[in-house]
Amino acid sequence: MKTLFVTGGAGFIGGNFVLDLLARGGYRIVNLDKLTYAGNPDTLSSVQAHADYRFVHGDIGDAELVSRLLAEHQPDAVVNFAAESHVDRSIDGPAEFVQTNVVGTLSLLESTLKFWRTLDEKRRAEFRFLHVSTDEVYGSLGAEGRFTETTAYAPNSPYSASKAASDHLVRAFHHTYGLPTLTTNCSNNYGPFQFPEKLIPLMIQKALTAQPLPVYGDGLNVRDWLFVTDHCRAIQRALEAGRVGEVYNVGGDAERENIHVVKTICTLLDERRPLADGKKREALITYVKDRPGHDRRYAIDASKIKRELDWSQTETFESGIARTVDWYLANQTWCQRVLDGSYRGERLGGA
Ligand code: NAD
Repeated sequence: MKTLFVTGGAGFIGGNFVLDLLARGGYRIVNLDKLTYAGNPDTLSSVQAHADYRFVHGDIGDAELVSRLLAEHQPDAVVNFAAESHVDRSIDGPAEFVQTNVVGTLSLLESTLKFWRTLDEKRRAEFRFLHVSTDEVYGSLGAEGRFTETTAYAPNSPYSASKAASDHLVRAFHHTYGLPTLTTNCSNNYGPFQFPEKLIPLMIQKALTAQPLPVYGDGLNVRDWLFVTDHCRAIQRALEAGRVGEVYNVGGDAERENIHVVKTICTLLDERRPLADGKKREALITYVKDRPGHDRRYAIDASKIKRELDWSQTETFESGIARTVDWYLANQTWCQRVLDGSYRGERLGGA
């Protein structure tokens, strides 16, 4: 039985990770989450009373709280999902991104280092600090090429700049202090429990209710799409077998133009929930002014994690998007509680 100290586990990817690991067994999980607008206790309601799960409402930057929790629970690893994660919000207000993603990660690293130094030699060698990051730190690609682990950092948004800074701090804590770190840089995740401000759930919700579907610019920006459970398994593999100090890129081998993603959602919904007037949902697509600094193309070369850790994605874009649409159709209560804000009424308190 391993104990994981997970941060940001009430968010989209962290929530899927917690649910996946508890379902598979063999892990005790302590989940520290500040419950910002992106943290949703509803996602974890099915495991709230699970014997191997403990939720703590708090901030990764609260060094006293984090140190107390680490000393109490003696984790085998820290897995850091906690972040401000939405690019559009970082354009409107970068300061919060620096606070959580840079200052918060630094504080978490310092608290973890202090804890790690209290461990005996064997546990110190086995301990891991896994930092979850993004392919956006590498900047934008032209029509050719893919990001590898040695691609130079060139972040273009306040979000990616703050994540890049956190990646560098993680790297520095390994090289300077010997903390056994791992960093994963992944592409765009999608799947169940994603907050409906991100492209796929936003389009599903709007298309379902026949609202206009706003697509940035010409819609030809390309993202690589990674089904969230595939990402969670990659993180698990990195924890089990990743080489200390290394970076692993994780991608879905599923590059698609944004407009293709939106049209696919329209088609799937037309099949499953035809509009009453018989119209096709593609007619709802409206092109809107592009996001400032919108990166044109991201593509991930995930051959290192495939080769070294025997990981590979199980979902194609087509199978993953169909699963996702079906999940949103079957979980409209979860979505409605996010959309009407009632999920925030049940913030869980107390450490
Ligand atoms: P999310 O926004 O859905 O969740 C973030 C979680 O962190 C929320 O539960 C929030 O309450 C919590 N949080 C925020 N600030 C905190 C703080 N100071 N202390 C404790 N908890 C805090 O994000 P996500 O999409 O699940 O992303 C998780 C991680 O993966 C992030 O680090 C993000 O940068 C990275 N990532 C995400 C994607 C993606 O496609 N979603 C892609 C690449 C990398």
